[in-house]
Amino acid sequence: MLESSLQQLGAALRAKKISSVELTQLYLDRMARLNPRLNAYITLNPEISLAQAKAADARLAAGTAEPLTGIPVAQKDIFCAKDWLTTCGSKMLHNFVSPYDAHIISQFNNAGAVNLGKTNMDEFAMGSSNETSHYGPVKNPWDTQRVPGGSSGGTASAVAARLCAAATGTDTGGSIRQPAALCGISGLKPTYGVCSRYGMIAFASSLDQAGPMGRSAEDLALMMNVMAGFDERDSTSLQRDNEDYTRDLNKPLTGLRIGLPKEFFAEGMGSDVAKAIEAAIAEYKKLGATIVDISLPNSKLSVPVYYVLAPAEASSNLSRFDGVRYGYRAPEYGDLADMYEKSRAQGFGAEVKRRIMIGTYVLSHGYYDAYYIKAQKIRRLIAQDFVEAYKHCDVIMGPTSPSTAFKLGEKGDDPVQMYLSDIYTIAVNLAGLPGMSIPCGFGDNNMPVGLQIIGNYFDEARMLNVAHQYQLATDWHSRAPQGL
Ligand code: GLN
Repeated sequence: MLESSLQQLGAALRAKKISSVELTQLYLDRMARLNPRLNAYITLNPEISLAQAKAADARLAAGTAEPLTGIPVAQKDIFCAKDWLTTCGSKMLHNFVSPYDAHIISQFNNAGAVNLGKTNMDEFAMGSSNETSHYGPVKNPWDTQRVPGGSSGGTASAVAARLCAAATGTDTGGSIRQPAALCGISGLKPTYGVCSRYGMIAFASSLDQAGPMGRSAEDLALMMNVMAGFDERDSTSLQRDNEDYTRDLNKPLTGLRIGLPKEFFAEGMGSDVAKAIEAAIAEYKKLGATIVDISLPNSKLSVPVYYVLAPAEASSNLSRFDGVRYGYRAPEYGDLADMYEKSRAQGFGAEVKRRIMIGTYVLSHGYYDAYYIKAQKIRRLIAQDFVEAYKHCDVIMGPTSPSTAFKLGEKGDDPVQMYLSDIYTIAVNLAGLPGMSIPCGFGDNNMPVGLQIIGNYFDEARMLNVAHQYQLATDWHSRAPQGL
């Protein structure tokens, strides 16, 4: 059962080969055994999970099941879920039980999926290793001395260790794709505006996007069918017709034009990563694709641009955490200002504080034009590069991450080194494009390597097709960490 695809699980549930309660219990038992070692989940709530499973079984019996009805799915702890502790990886929200559901959570509830638990993450989604979580670092199931990536590291670790059938993540600068790559799973960040941000705790609102993480492109397509869609409660949600993301999975790739940006293949990429990516491109040629050399000349500026814009938005978004209405409040304080100061000083971790300070600085009078406005202008140039590139190709490919999973603590005291983990992913968020990562081999130390596939706006169905055809021809995506 643990190796079954979502489609197979759905079929087994509908055929009554297993009940949702049994399937949920199977995962809960596995989590009880493995989560203490991996720390992939912050919150489990077996009572709610099993009650949802029971309701799903009733629906299955009544014949009103949808494809995900009864399937246990984990949720990143950035999504508000009614009656669940929702911490966003922070001490600031250590006692916050959400009174409402995020749009994404309601979508899964309506589909009859079982919420299996809330997964660990970097604090407020700031990080690339899951080491900034107030709830402790997550371990990579392929090697527990190594990081799972971040910020959706708990989700990536849980999917790779078979602690859920599939799960959600969010991606502001790479947080779905980079952990997917480091844990050897598949992950998709949709076009900005495709999945509602309502009830998803905000980091950098113009970049944040929810997406699915799972064991195959086919599973991601089924997850997208539940997650995508217009929601009037998010002002940047896009009003479009619903799509069936599985519709193109089986199309042949003959004639597909793959753009390889020369900037991605210059210095910076580990030689083990390069080898796996080259082999993947060779496989695509066998599948009928042609290669086009392209250039994204401004992509080298994406990390500095992101580290002006994302902290600017974060400093504004995080001003709501003041110890007044919910969340952490310092136990002792003088007047109101002192209460704000102490609550924020004690409630936020070091990386979050660093971002608030940078963001406040770049937005301040006198520096706003020099940093914030300039970064916005370069953001447009970065997006324009992609518009130009897509005149010559259908999808863009390259590495997801410059290296495989690094050791816990290895980049802890060097924020800039950590920021460079997202050098290949950030431009995609700045442009609002969809991007995904699929496993394409193993590098040094036998750690997984991820191939990044970047699509044009709203081209998710094609990207899933491109990934699925590769997964039919190879078996990297079905490898599982051994000895857990
Ligand atoms: N690692 C990047 C950061 O720290 C991206 C995080 C994300 O996508 N949420 O901001």
